[in-house]
Amino acid sequence: MTKDTGQANLSPRILVIYTGGTIGMIEDAHTGALVPFDLSHLMENVPKIGRLGYALEHEQFDPPIDSSNMSPALWQKLAGMIAHSYDSFDAFVILHGTDTMAYTASALSFMLQDLTKPVVLTGSQLPIGEIREDGTENLITALQIAAARDETGFSVVREVAISFGRHLWRGNRSTKVSSTNFGAFRSFNYPPLANMDLHIDFHKKYLLQSKEGTLFTFFEKMDAAVGVIWLFPGITEKMLRAQLNDVDAKGFVLRTFGAGNAPTEAWFIKVLTEAVHEGKVIVNVTQCPAGGVEEKRYATGDALASAGVVTGLDITYEAALTKMMHLFGQGLTADEVAKAMPCSISGEVTESS
Ligand code: ASP
Repeated sequence: MTKDTGQANLSPRILVIYTGGTIGMIEDAHTGALVPFDLSHLMENVPKIGRLGYALEHEQFDPPIDSSNMSPALWQKLAGMIAHSYDSFDAFVILHGTDTMAYTASALSFMLQDLTKPVVLTGSQLPIGEIREDGTENLITALQIAAARDETGFSVVREVAISFGRHLWRGNRSTKVSSTNFGAFRSFNYPPLANMDLHIDFHKKYLLQSKEGTLFTFFEKMDAAVGVIWLFPGITEKMLRAQLNDVDAKGFVLRTFGAGNAPTEAWFIKVLTEAVHEGKVIVNVTQCPAGGVEEKRYATGDALASAGVVTGLDITYEAALTKMMHLFGQGLTADEVAKAMPCSISGEVTESS
């Protein structure tokens, strides 16, 4: 916890953390495949960063990773790097692979709560060293967003966000939508926090506002004992039981159809009801990228609610998964986690009125 107000110095002090990812990768001389390289290579390729006039410091994962190798343990390390230097910097920019960036942004939004400073993630589809690439612009824009202040001198962004292509998205509302498009991310249930065209236009009404009387708090622990179950026409009782019967698992995100619907066959509801009685938390999150769960709209959704499945409303499954890791990590009971899931911690879900 810290008393820092988030009021920035004239020349913003920004910590850049390179975790790995395409933005800093180079081609392996033998295989031609892209492999993570180090931060100095990345910075050398963007000399105009110096013209921004920011006081930058760098740290990097050793070794840098392809983000497919990201894990809850590495989130703890990354969040710790930010929390431990929180008072020494005005903002944090994280360079990260796009593949799991939405998971990391979601996890960080629960681990670093009531931020008074920006934590901006970015990366790229093509490495910065290539002749044609998107990394240089993404990096510079992320730094400018991190440095942006309002008329009173406070950071404009006071949350975990993803800056990519022409948009700034709330981190825990984001999803990777393309493996090729320079606009790799979307947030289907929440508007962009900023548009980056000729100017960087912040949409202030959508930015997370600091809550009165709260202080930045670092929640380090994550409990990885959660999983995802994806429904499809043809799923069998054996398949469903095999996943739910994992003795170590404490909770599951259940990826349902449409407005949160699932089969109403007796065996299906019975298996889920038993799992809930055994103390597993099951959260209903739709497979649709946009929209959310409306349990009462169809009998098929209502049956899930009667089985004790908790509504995920309009949360992304990346956020639902990491939120459960965070909540179980704090030592909450299954009942407490189930009650907490539909309530917003860092703007990840639209609470039902
Ligand atoms: N595989 C890479 C990663 O996520 C892809 C990227 O950076 O865009 O690390």
